[in-house]
Amino acid sequence: MIRVGVNGYGTIGKRVADAVHAQPDMELIGVAKTQPNFEAHTAGERGYPMYAAIPERSPLFSEAGVDLAGEVDELVAKADIIVDCTPSGIGAENRELYETHHTPAIFQGGEDADVADVSFNARANFDAARDADYVRVVSCNTTGLSRIIAPLEAEYGVEKVRATLVRRGGDPGQNSRGPINDILPNPIEIPSHHGPDVKTIFPGLEIDTLGLKVPATLMHVHALNVTLEDDVTGAHVRQLLEGENRVYVIPEGMGIDGAGKLMDFALDAGRPRGDMWENCVWGESIGVNGRDLYLFQAIHQQSDVIPENVDAIRAMFDTEDQQDSMALTDRTLGIGI
Ligand code: NAD
Repeated sequence: MIRVGVNGYGTIGKRVADAVHAQPDMELIGVAKTQPNFEAHTAGERGYPMYAAIPERSPLFSEAGVDLAGEVDELVAKADIIVDCTPSGIGAENRELYETHHTPAIFQGGEDADVADVSFNARANFDAARDADYVRVVSCNTTGLSRIIAPLEAEYGVEKVRATLVRRGGDPGQNSRGPINDILPNPIEIPSHHGPDVKTIFPGLEIDTLGLKVPATLMHVHALNVTLEDDVTGAHVRQLLEGENRVYVIPEGMGIDGAGKLMDFALDAGRPRGDMWENCVWGESIGVNGRDLYLFQAIHQQSDVIPENVDAIRAMFDTEDQQDSMALTDRTLGIGI
């Protein structure tokens, strides 16, 4: 059993905790939080031992009726590995704490790549994390792009990727973010920083990205153009992507014409929190012109990185190979439509 602690229990942390809890080869030994808010209460109901992330705030937990198992230092000392799910930039500050206890750690995509030895995507570079002490699971957008690029690269070779990322303004609970009524080129510089982030997974890749932000909280949508090294047919690409368990090629006739219906679909299917862990590629959008492939995909920013965190743990402890780990993660979480 790999003993896992989660530091930072927000959007990503609570999902990582549930995913770890569902693994037969891992034990969730606790989660660390800064405040005893609603998420602390539901973590208690799930039976997750709670640690105070900021020791001075410990009394707030008992005042709110939330039992504490200790402080974050103790969690880090007890754990075989910490999955750091704190806000961007805090993870880098926490690295010293993990080093002090000789506890390996996984960081999230909001951190700069140099926070860790390796940037990770299970489909693209699982083996790069073998025996690494510090690994960064790349962002939701980079994860979404990597899951498409990896099979294309292996099957046809990729000459160049161009991607326009239409990004949600914020997550549903982030009521201070926006825009509320605007369409923002964001970041306004072209190409955007997303391409270089994808290159942390595919170092030699030619990729240019552009970003926009829109008034939506549901998902990101990518418009993708990939110039391949071989001539292809749309049907062949579709078959290739349908063979990827973490890619859902939306069949014609499903009546899913946008992110809203995708989120409804996930809720109707009984997914926890309405999560959609898979990339959602519109089958009808897969088009080919010579060596140029085009497609639209939607990425559920809150959940696509969750299975990647689970696989990163197995890669770091060298307990399963890539295929077995991904299959186990997918089976235990219910991934694959
Ligand atoms: P979040 O704000 O929802 O959750 C972060 C949690 O960490 C909050 O509960 C916060 O109170 C807590 N926290 C703050 N300071 C802390 C500290 N010092 N110690 C412990 N906990 C602390 O953020 P999130 O969306 O879950 O993002 C976490 C990381 O995941 C970021 O790097 C982010 O870029 C990345 N990420 C986010 C998304 C997304 O869409 N939300 C997608 C992929 C990756």
